[in-house]
Amino acid sequence: QTLLIWHRNDLRVQSHAALAYAREHGFRIIGCFLDVESQWRAHDHGDRKLELYRRAADELQRSYRQAGLEFHLQVAGTYEQSIEHLHRLIERIQPAELALHAEYELNEYQRDCQVADICRQRGVRLRIFHDQIMINPEKIRTKADQPFKVYTPFMKCWRSLLDHPGQLAPLPDSLPEPLPDSLERQAQMRLQQFVAERLDGYSQGRDFYARSATAEVSSALAIGLLSTRQCHVVAMAARHDYNTEAVEKWRNELIWREFYKYISYHFPHVCRGNSFRREYDALSWNDNSDWLDAWQNGQTGYPAVDAAQRCLLVSGFMPNRLRMVTAMFLTKDLGLDWRAGERWFMQQLADGDFSANNGGWQWSASTGVDAAPYFRIFNPVEQSKKFDPDGDFIRLWVPELSGLSGRDIHWPSALQRTQCGYPQAIVEHKQARLETLERFKRLKTS
Ligand code: FAD
Repeated sequence: QTLLIWHRNDLRVQSHAALAYAREHGFRIIGCFLDVESQWRAHDHGDRKLELYRRAADELQRSYRQAGLEFHLQVAGTYEQSIEHLHRLIERIQPAELALHAEYELNEYQRDCQVADICRQRGVRLRIFHDQIMINPEKIRTKADQPFKVYTPFMKCWRSLLDHPGQLAPLPDSLPEPLPDSLERQAQMRLQQFVAERLDGYSQGRDFYARSATAEVSSALAIGLLSTRQCHVVAMAARHDYNTEAVEKWRNELIWREFYKYISYHFPHVCRGNSFRREYDALSWNDNSDWLDAWQNGQTGYPAVDAAQRCLLVSGFMPNRLRMVTAMFLTKDLGLDWRAGERWFMQQLADGDFSANNGGWQWSASTGVDAAPYFRIFNPVEQSKKFDPDGDFIRLWVPELSGLSGRDIHWPSALQRTQCGYPQAIVEHKQARLETLERFKRLKTS
């Protein structure tokens, strides 16, 4: 009997729930991947993410073929068109089962509901695996049988379901090793290297962004070159050898990723551009395209913000602490709508993931689930002094300031700026902070 696996954001051959199931039950396996560039663009994925998809899909096809399995890589355009392609594939192949890994965002969920209809019509059994996150979001609920809205009780519930011996076993390998030098192999090596060299110092080092103390596996997780299961399994194994606090801290970050996907699933209004807390949709934002442009291009006159934005432009990555700093700067110092920042990040990030990005932006803008309270506003200069004390990150990404001392680099004087050819600050933090407090207060009293 034939089983068709539709790969989407699960572009790997190892630790793959659908593949493991197919192997275990002796199916003849056929794989497919449908390139939906128009849809990706409509969802603001940029060139970097598209390149990753394409390379990973190509490697996946080669892995299948090396294992003697059929694989279909087709250009489909939109989700709507991908359903038509899939329909035709199903008619041609006549599989007994179609297997896929569930996706939790609204458009993806709706697409899969349509796929379920087709399977019903064609008499194909649909197997859906929860492997993009660890637990089916329907299974995590409060005592009152409601979805959680706060991270910590969610995380505790998640752990109560999973942190038992035997629950977090690795999946059996289903296809041969990934191709040498493939993105999947590189991601596995990055994970192993992180565990061996940096996991132990993760809790102390993670916010000091010049040190590269984190795993940098987010782009691999975003398109499923790695699975979250693989991350948890190696972390659990590492608990014997390393600082348990660091290991659990890292696992909690992985659980944040699960939490935001869970929020997209249970509260789909966030996928429609709404604030998680609906009342904040009435906030009035500034409309200033020059400021947005300065922020996007790292020309705000705030060295840490500019370093972060330039790093994003050039590398497609930004460390987490700086994502929070620069997102708060856009929303609380410039008073610009978080959706403009969310969109820009999505277009630039190699790890762009709707749920994590939306969650991070709404957290920073104080409109989201379990968000920073609106009166807690990061001071970008103090954040810089605290988490990049020697200014190394600024020196790397804002070369015109590289000659300044560690003391001056976080906030150069007007004269130093002129001498270095670095812009004056486009807003004044103290004043902007007061305006933001007013903006939120007005909403509360209206
Ligand atoms: P590590 O610290 O090593 O963490 C391991 C993994 O846990 C990450 O790869 C990621 O999958 C997950 N994770 C860590 N922190 C978070 C978090 N706060 N929320 C959700 N998952 C997390 N992450 C994305 O993967 N894609 C995005 O588009 C994205 N946009 C963001 C936007 C904003 C405004 C903010 C504040 C955060 C965003 N994040 C996003 C979360 C986080 O910044 C990145 O996941 C992290 O920087 C990736 O680096 P790492 O792999 O070294 O993380």
